[in-house]
Amino acid sequence: MRDAKLYIVIPCYNEEAVLPETAKRLESLLSGMIQKGMVSRESRTVFVDDGSKDKTWSMIAELSRKNPLFQGIKLARNTGHQNALLAGLLSICEYCDCCISVDADLQDDIEKIPEFVAKFYEGCDIVYGVRSKRETDSWFKRFTARAFYKLMKLLGADVVENHADYRLMSRRAIEALAQFPEVNLFLRGMVRLVGFRTGTVHYERMERFAGESKYPLKKMLSFAFDGITSFSIQPIRLVWGLGVFVCVLAVAAAVYTLCARAFGVSVTGWSSLMISIWFLGGVQLVSVGVIGEYIGKIYKEVKRRPRYIIEESTLEDK
Ligand code: UDP
Ligand code: MG
Repeated sequence: MRDAKLYIVIPCYNEEAVLPETAKRLESLLSGMIQKGMVSRESRTVFVDDGSKDKTWSMIAELSRKNPLFQGIKLARNTGHQNALLAGLLSICEYCDCCISVDADLQDDIEKIPEFVAKFYEGCDIVYGVRSKRETDSWFKRFTARAFYKLMKLLGADVVENHADYRLMSRRAIEALAQFPEVNLFLRGMVRLVGFRTGTVHYERMERFAGESKYPLKKMLSFAFDGITSFSIQPIRLVWGLGVFVCVLAVAAAVYTLCARAFGVSVTGWSSLMISIWFLGGVQLVSVGVIGEYIGKIYKEVKRRPRYIIEESTLEDK
């Protein structure tokens, strides 16, 4: 197949500052690819407005009125990057042969899109965009990202290192992803579970073109924590191991205390008592917290609430 219908999906949250430039660059890229016969004339760029509070949606609606290459989906409220991306993927699935997801801020090099498509023609169902350099990220972001991937690996969850959500998926890969019913979304982990033939494209991560990051530290940490607890039950096992370890320590301490008593060594005991109370209290709180996190996840899953709600879409018009 040489004339695949390519859909580019872009989640946008308050992106009025970058949208005109992003649209301009994507238009020239996509129309260039169509002219060269790399992709079908029916290829499209779909912006998913994730409940923005600024002019993002009116800009998207305007773009789609002026140019048939652009389409838009408006979500009823802000549901987060992962949900917005899934909304886009599942909505376009029936129209496309393959789809590329990319952020609105031009941090991921869109000039690499033809390479993704080439890999698709070679037979890959999923192509991961992997950041080869992260020099534009702060050392803190690089350090925490590395620690996160290491921890995920250690805990037995399968993730592609330095891959965010810049990836190509074939239609059947999206159809497979649609079968995952979970509410706690961690797409880069879920996509690994889909299988099929995969490939990678390396690219350099650039500075955000304009506007500011919608992922401040707090959101980033919570996303990382979600990723870990959605994909690994090792932390709960660790709690169990920790409990056993502390019990062994407690037995040793008891034996020591009894011996000390038998041999008449007087133990004043205050410091050891305090240390053990604090230590055990800490271990218990951490354990309860970890277990609580999993119970919270189960609670969210069993409610089966919709992962996103579409308020408006231009997809049916075309
Ligand atoms: N985004 C979204 N909903 C949100 C937060 C972010 O759709 O609640 C989009 C945002 O518009 C961007 C992408 O997700 O296209 C990545 O966000 P951002 O660039 O702010 O994250 P960073 O690159 O700083 O990690
Ligand atoms: Mg960004």
